[in-house]
Amino acid sequence: MTVLPPGSTIGILGGGQLGRMIAQAAARLGYRCHIFCPEIDGPASHVAAKTVNGAFEDEDALRAFVKDVDIVTYEFENVPAATARLLSEHAPLAPNARALEVAQDRITEKSFVRDLGLGVPAFRAVSTLEELEAAIAEIGTPAILKTRRFGYDGKGQARLATPADAAAAWDTIGRKPAILEAMVAFDGEVSVLVARGQDGRMVHYGPVHNVHKNGILDISRVPAPFSEQLAASAVATAEKIATALDYVGVLAIELFVVGDTVLFNEMAPRVHNSGHWTIEGAVTSQFENHVRAICGLPLGATDPLGRVEMRNLIGEDANHWQTLLADPTLHVHLYGKREARPGRKMGHTTRVVRD
Ligand code: AMP
Repeated sequence: MTVLPPGSTIGILGGGQLGRMIAQAAARLGYRCHIFCPEIDGPASHVAAKTVNGAFEDEDALRAFVKDVDIVTYEFENVPAATARLLSEHAPLAPNARALEVAQDRITEKSFVRDLGLGVPAFRAVSTLEELEAAIAEIGTPAILKTRRFGYDGKGQARLATPADAAAAWDTIGRKPAILEAMVAFDGEVSVLVARGQDGRMVHYGPVHNVHKNGILDISRVPAPFSEQLAASAVATAEKIATALDYVGVLAIELFVVGDTVLFNEMAPRVHNSGHWTIEGAVTSQFENHVRAICGLPLGATDPLGRVEMRNLIGEDANHWQTLLADPTLHVHLYGKREARPGRKMGHTTRVVRD
């Protein structure tokens, strides 16, 4: 076990709000963070000791970044595999490159989870309209077509109500290599966040009950309104995946609830929006436990401090900051993004109700 003592420098790939909140948690424990990202003046740069701006393919910029850091982690999962490889030759990388590769491709991801014996919706890989039609004949409709790579917040997806929707759906996703999934008539959506240390010990948050609006996470709540049996299988699913990936850090697993069983939807090899409630709502936040895990420190307790609700501030929602702050019991987080574009995550609020 390699312990990286406080005072060391953590390199974070990606400059968004997740990097910002990792850097804030790291600072509390005495670490410094350096950010590597293409965008200038991103939310993470505002709170970090240093930022190196560059494309993820820019080897000179990556070398300049990695020479000053003691470990590299990421807040963004679409870091190219070649970038992860180059960096890992110069500094430890956590989570490992394998987790990144599995999570970047929806077919690799779902096949990996299915091969662990876990429940996944029926799916097929498709790369032409003819393959899509053949897949529809096997899986049926309703179904959902998603690009294999680079999808997020419901982007790169099209729903098919009947087989006649095939051509339109294929055009909607830009005729890219894709996955066709059976539409799951779920009772709800939950996530489990697992923090796994270098020694394989795990702690978890959740299941968290997630409600989406327009394909974007809207509200996360704990405790989730599902049975203990459901909660146990959600946690067991997440822990099995974390162990199989020999994962170090925080891993987010999103699941569909169908009765008392769960079906895997997707994973994110990083801290996750559905864990923001842990900043004020749990003994130790997901961000701090990510830092503890990658630095080889003992993991902190994850118990919720009450009933907790997190709401995202999307686009112009964040303009109402004065009204939000007028509620003295609400924790308000603003990410410092200058432009409130529609669909953009600008901040979040958390309410903790202690019973
Ligand atoms: P994803 O980006 O894969 O998480 O999809 C975004 C949202 O679309 C999910 O949170 C679900 O609400 C919905 N969705 C995705 N895949 C399915 C599916 N196979 N069945 C039903 N709903 C789905």
